[in-house]
Amino acid sequence: LNRRLAEFGTTIFAEMSALAMSTGSINLGQGFPDTDGPEEIREAAVRALRDGRGNQYPPGPGVPELRTAIASHQKRHYGLSYDPDTEVLVTAGATEAIAASLLALLEPGDEVIALEPYYDSYAASIAMAGGTRVPVTLRPDEGDDGDGHRRFRLDLDELRDAVTGRTRLLLINTPHNPTGTVLTRAELTEIARIAVERDLLVVTDEVYEHLVFDDAEHVPLASLPGMRERTVTIGSAGKTFSFTGWKVGWVTAPPALVGAVRSAKQFLTYVASGPFQYAVAEALALPDAYFEDFRADMLRKRNVLAAGLAEAGFKVFRSAGTYFITTDIRPLGESDGFAFCRALPERAGVVAIPNAVFYDHREQGAPFVRFAFCKRDEVLHEAAGRLLRLTS
Ligand code: PMP
Ligand code: GLN
Repeated sequence: LNRRLAEFGTTIFAEMSALAMSTGSINLGQGFPDTDGPEEIREAAVRALRDGRGNQYPPGPGVPELRTAIASHQKRHYGLSYDPDTEVLVTAGATEAIAASLLALLEPGDEVIALEPYYDSYAASIAMAGGTRVPVTLRPDEGDDGDGHRRFRLDLDELRDAVTGRTRLLLINTPHNPTGTVLTRAELTEIARIAVERDLLVVTDEVYEHLVFDDAEHVPLASLPGMRERTVTIGSAGKTFSFTGWKVGWVTAPPALVGAVRSAKQFLTYVASGPFQYAVAEALALPDAYFEDFRADMLRKRNVLAAGLAEAGFKVFRSAGTYFITTDIRPLGESDGFAFCRALPERAGVVAIPNAVFYDHREQGAPFVRFAFCKRDEVLHEAAGRLLRLTS
């Protein structure tokens, strides 16, 4: 492995999913639903395969049906207009969209500011692009929101201070994996102000856009003043329709930025997921009821797992979005999330992810552990029951 990638071995998700298999544990580690997306969308994929749509290389930017559906989705949900021909690009999942964006937009040595803890592919993609990552750490609130729940918060002064003459872009993620924080309109407005003032590009990972809970609201960065022209927005059918194995993602951005990302993408996969692209085009056109039910379903799951974790003795942070709940294990008399997660399958038959893997400042993440709730209710209840063993 070369020096750029030396620090990145096997991803934590592969390691922890293998551990779940070998120990027969409930896997609340890697974020994937244990129930597939809508039957009619699976049928749409089968029809595409049978009818010979997408069985050979689809067009480089994605099939026109899907690009049009992505543009309509941005319009319907956010009032954002994108031209399907010049401002939309289909990618092999959001992962490729992130990698291709950074490979296309960074010069070696450029600094990228990312919200720490960050999804693990960010650090690796920045490294592959020869960039330098500059973490701005989300920190747990001292107080609470008035209902006993704390959240992880962005310090906007720290963000402002992190910008230097070498900063090329801000890599933002909201709703945020792994903390479950959803950046507020006020916070995003301030981020936008910094980007405009310092003339920065913004790559924003919004794959959990439809998974926001309680009174949280997903505000796309591209919808704020001065942002559309400098923002690359990333979405994923894996998250929005519960088909993480299909690897259909997308980018929306102005023509010059989409063109740049496409140039990099051409030499990563060229194209991917032919028949699935047609099915995702149908999924994006599902009525509002689909999105409402999906959100209500995940909210219920969040509540089941949050209650179970609290009962088992964890400090539970408010998850306002995503598939994930971050906990603090110190009330259990533990302080090292790595050691805790390695022992958890033996102790309780459950797998979770140590948040420290998402930090450059590992010590900052040490006591935090992430659990995924995108699982069937009975699985969540069983996991909660098993976790009670930790204190009994
Ligand atoms: N961004 C975030 C924040 C994620 O959590 C994930 C995957 N769980 C991805 C991107 C990757 O999405 P995809 O599976 O579409 O590549
Ligand atoms: N993004 C998912 C998670 O955070 C996992 C994706 C992966 O395995 N790379 O759990």
